[in-house]
Amino acid sequence: MGGIVMLYELEFRDLRTYHMNEGHSAFLTLALLEEKMKSRDLLSATEEDMDSVRDQCVFTTHTPVSAGHDQFPIGLASSVLGEKRAKAIMNSGCCLEHTLNMTHLALFFSRFINGVAMRHWQISSDMFPSYPINSITNGVHAVSWTSPPFEELFDLLIPEWRHQNFNLRYAVGIPLPEIRKAHRKAKKELLNEVALRTNVNLNPDAFTIGFARRATPYKRANMLFSNPDRLRDIVKECGPIQIIYGGKAHPRDEGGKDMIRQIFSASASLRDVIPIVYLEEYDIAVAKKLCAGVDLWLNTPERPLEASGTSGMKAALNGVPSFSVLDGWWIEGHYEGVTGWAIGNGPYGKESLTQEVESLYHKLEFDILPLYYQRSEEFDRIMRAAISLNGSFFNTHRMVLQYLENAYSLQRSGKMMESNSQ
Ligand SMILES: *Cc1c(COP(=O)(O)O)cnc(C)c1O
Repeated sequence: MGGIVMLYELEFRDLRTYHMNEGHSAFLTLALLEEKMKSRDLLSATEEDMDSVRDQCVFTTHTPVSAGHDQFPIGLASSVLGEKRAKAIMNSGCCLEHTLNMTHLALFFSRFINGVAMRHWQISSDMFPSYPINSITNGVHAVSWTSPPFEELFDLLIPEWRHQNFNLRYAVGIPLPEIRKAHRKAKKELLNEVALRTNVNLNPDAFTIGFARRATPYKRANMLFSNPDRLRDIVKECGPIQIIYGGKAHPRDEGGKDMIRQIFSASASLRDVIPIVYLEEYDIAVAKKLCAGVDLWLNTPERPLEASGTSGMKAALNGVPSFSVLDGWWIEGHYEGVTGWAIGNGPYGKESLTQEVESLYHKLEFDILPLYYQRSEEFDRIMRAAISLNGSFFNTHRMVLQYLENAYSLQRSGKMMESNSQ
């Protein structure tokens, strides 16, 4: 509600579409309804009044678990908003069981609704079956997330890539030695940064795994250490591995903090065979070097909790293949042995942690490391495909075009609204 006042103060007046990102912003709809009602009583709002709010709003949901959606008792809403507003919300029928669910409020008042990856669209449609939900898969800003060595290479061979990220598809024609050279530079830059921050000198020739994201239990940062002896054996069989971690926990997320402790204790007990560093203060600057400079980007979320995930997209732009549980964007970006590798069987059905862990070790030992150490040209081909198939697609350029065409275009989303009310 403050946001809209601020926009008016900044003299943005003729806004045609408001885009709500997650339920936190849903009181926007209340502000728009008040605006529409002017001096009329909020409680006398008609279907037509509500439709006029709906006509202005677009909503993106991000959270694939119901517990993650903000909910408040009506009594609390009433004491914060005032009784009249709370009643108006209740009258609109979007409060179930005396609970104000911010997501329901946003859904109710939106002409277009979307999830942030195809899988997330399915999950959201099951969670909110009475609303038509669309899918627009997230993307990352390509120019910001491409490391200097790859920027240089793309500028030279695909100069249009900056203006039209689609052109990254032509990376498929870049000679493999050029990909390798650019990656080695990005890796050097990362290892220099690691040395600066931790005083640990990692080996530029050793297979380097990266893992960094918000430290919280469902991301399962410790999965790689489920069986340390197995990891020792793999190194003995296949060649050296080193691992770079990053990621902060929310101060109140005890599970997340415990995750970080577990990485530290694993790193101490594996010290003699596998160098493991943890970069503190993970932020965009660190992420930029980390996603670009490792040889493999590891992701182990618990399905289906990763709505999209984005760091693997940053890695792909730099030719770094993902090795990830099939969830979020990776279901769309994954072609086994072409753009990277999947951990576990697939996005659907139950699978035990033991099975996932077995898949993780098995592929490291028999697919990924042999390629890296013995058939490096094939590994380079995977790096290149990560750029041409995934860098060219999982970027904000494609994403914003989809929002323009599907969500912001009144013609298109107006039609969706019609089918919504039928
Ligand atoms: C990209 C990024 C994230 C999000 O990564 P996910 O893979 O979506 O979890 C978090 N923190 C920083 C600093 C990032 O750059």
